[in-house]
Amino acid sequence: MTNPNTFENRPDKQAKWDGRYIGLAHHVAQWSKDPRAKVGAVLVNQAYARVVATGFNGFPSNVEDSAERLENKARKLQMILHAEQNALLHAGRDARQCDAYVVGKPVCNVCATLLIQSGVRRVVAAAPRAGTDSYWDRVGLLAIEMMREAGVEFVPISGTQLDVLGLNRDEARRAEDPFVTHQAEFDFGVFDRGAGG
Ligand SMILES: [Zn+2]
Repeated sequence: MTNPNTFENRPDKQAKWDGRYIGLAHHVAQWSKDPRAKVGAVLVNQAYARVVATGFNGFPSNVEDSAERLENKARKLQMILHAEQNALLHAGRDARQCDAYVVGKPVCNVCATLLIQSGVRRVVAAAPRAGTDSYWDRVGLLAIEMMREAGVEFVPISGTQLDVLGLNRDEARRAEDPFVTHQAEFDFGVFDRGAGG
């Protein structure tokens, strides 16, 4: 029996739904109270065309997300759950075989370990940049290295795609956060050395 929801040999259909779920992740990201980085994640079971869970970055429930805490960057990072982590916790076992859509920042090393271990099969997210000193770029590249090794497909969202979807954020925030624009293209060549083909 064929699955009517399969994207096999239907790249146009896949691209259409990818765009919709990227848009949904972007929408959910706006619910974050983090003044500097708003990140949204959506877990989708493609076989049933179901949104299994959504998440955005924020403090745990009942932990006060006061302006003082959110403005203290070091303290904030010690208290905040990433969007992917919130979505995975809500999904529980249903995360297995899901695709994850993440908008706002590249997937970090910790979220990559959790996505892999939860059985997520495909990740559509911002592409980190190679060759920068940025913390998020470096952990983002490590995340991709782990996902590739574990057989989780990584699909970078390009800045062009975000433009097409009308999701690039305003100029002020763009200037503050280089990940808002994402990079135009993602160079997988950075992993070619020692990747074993
Ligand atoms: Zn993360």
